[in-house]
Amino acid sequence: MNAPQLKSLLKLQKNDLTLIQLKKEAQNVPERQEQIRKNAQSARDQASAAHDAVKACENAIKQIELEVETAKEQINKYKTQQMQARTNEEYKAFEKEIATAGGKIGELEDRELLEMTRLDEVKAEWAKALEVEKAAEAQVATEVQELEERLNVIRSTFADVKEGREELVAQIDKEITTRYMQLLNKNQNAVIVPIRQKSCGGCHMTLTPQTLHDAHSQQKWTVCNFCGRYLYDDGEG
Ligand SMILES: [Zn+2]
Repeated sequence: MNAPQLKSLLKLQKNDLTLIQLKKEAQNVPERQEQIRKNAQSARDQASAAHDAVKACENAIKQIELEVETAKEQINKYKTQQMQARTNEEYKAFEKEIATAGGKIGELEDRELLEMTRLDEVKAEWAKALEVEKAAEAQVATEVQELEERLNVIRSTFADVKEGREELVAQIDKEITTRYMQLLNKNQNAVIVPIRQKSCGGCHMTLTPQTLHDAHSQQKWTVCNFCGRYLYDDGEG
């Protein structure tokens, strides 16, 4: 190996690692946007279900009120008929009917009270769900847009970093860059690594004395016996 080539290769690696990182970030953007949209949809569904619960409760109350009305009309009818009763038995029979209908009204009014309490609860839940929905909608408006802008920044940074690449590649032996690219594609992280504590800076395995010697002498390109990464001795390991 020679020092200028190593320097170019390290520069190339720095750029390429930036490109890999940007690519990953860009790939995650649609998924993140989708997640935000899904959250909003789920919030909308919940608000709609909460609204349905309010409507169902209001309908139940209306139904009860109708039944109360019917029972009251029935009582009035009985009372009219009672006044026209010819016998004492007939009179008493109406009295019984009136009492039964009165009892039914009492039950209905108890049920109505329960439904009224429930209505307060479901209305509070609906209001809460509407707030969550509003926040989720706002998130769609801001964050999806922000991610879109971030994507544009990534694209232009990507282009900038890529621009100087050709020049660096031209400074390095073809066989080295070919192998470097294979390693980089496979590992997706640094493949030109320094020696640290007599170990490979990539896989952290302890290197043989021969490998350490080769890297130190800088006469040839040295690779790790375990992971195949290029090794260099920067004097700090
Ligand atoms: Zn290694």
